[in-house]
Amino acid sequence: MEPLLEVRDLAVEFPIGSDLFGRPRHIVHAVNGVSLAVDAGEALGLVGESGCGKTTLGRAILRLIEPSAGKVLICGEDWCRLSPSELRSRRRFAQMVFQDPNSSLNPRLTVGASVAEAIEIHRLAATSEKKMARVRELLEWVGLSGDAADRYPHEFSGGQRQRIGIARALAVEPRMIVCDEPVSALDVSVQAQIIQLLQELQQARGLAYLFISHDLAVVEHLCQRTAVMYLGRLVELGPSRQVCGAPIHPYTRALVSAVPRMTGEGVARIQLTGDLPSPLHPPTGCPFHPRCPIAESRCRTEVPAWKEVRLGHWAACHLAAG
Ligand code: SF4
Repeated sequence: MEPLLEVRDLAVEFPIGSDLFGRPRHIVHAVNGVSLAVDAGEALGLVGESGCGKTTLGRAILRLIEPSAGKVLICGEDWCRLSPSELRSRRRFAQMVFQDPNSSLNPRLTVGASVAEAIEIHRLAATSEKKMARVRELLEWVGLSGDAADRYPHEFSGGQRQRIGIARALAVEPRMIVCDEPVSALDVSVQAQIIQLLQELQQARGLAYLFISHDLAVVEHLCQRTAVMYLGRLVELGPSRQVCGAPIHPYTRALVSAVPRMTGEGVARIQLTGDLPSPLHPPTGCPFHPRCPIAESRCRTEVPAWKEVRLGHWAACHLAAG
């Protein structure tokens, strides 16, 4: 069966500065040859340190940022080849929920008007009464009262505003939502409620998620599979239980070891030395080699191949073994 989303060799480059002739001085490879797939109704988590390229990847998939190369197939159609008007009409199939819900809510519009906007753009309600009935239904789906439609965003808490952001994304009946750190700005107790809501919506509506987060424990809880990103590349991808319970790549092992509730008591934390290198000057060979505790000499010169180490569990490491 064809996946709902298929990303093939996607790259995003940003030019930095310009010389006398207007040519870029440097190129930042923010996303470098990423391939992945998400099935209908599946949640794929995307984790990594801040600055690793995961938000850029999520935005490039929805063409909120223009990719430099590669393909993004959604329902079998390459979004990288769509004209602006074709793209507008397809947006209803794949939506985004942002870390800051304020970025998708106009403070001068009532909540009802904000949610109704997407219904109007895609002409999904025949009359104004049907549109407002749908708005109230969506607000109830996300755990708010229908009366919330008449109020303004500033009258709600951060968690409630995120629920409104989710209602707005759901208004166009998408098949997939890219969730970009949707809970990281919220209190822990509110985080759990939003995660539960996303889980319920996934089960009830058969939604697929690309769930971007720096929190491995949240991703393990919500997502069937997890991808790990480092310096613009995927370094590991597999079933969440395996990626979090028996990670293959040394970088994933370090991330998992930093979450005590995942490793249990008495498991030593793997301390990574140094910061994430600048994507302006990425290391040669394996991009992780300057921080890798088990690097060998070939790691400095040879880029490790992306290989299936266990069934459905992939990693990019010369020393990966099942
Ligand atoms: Fe470490 Fe080498 Fe594997 Fe890279 S390829 S993760 S440097 S062992």
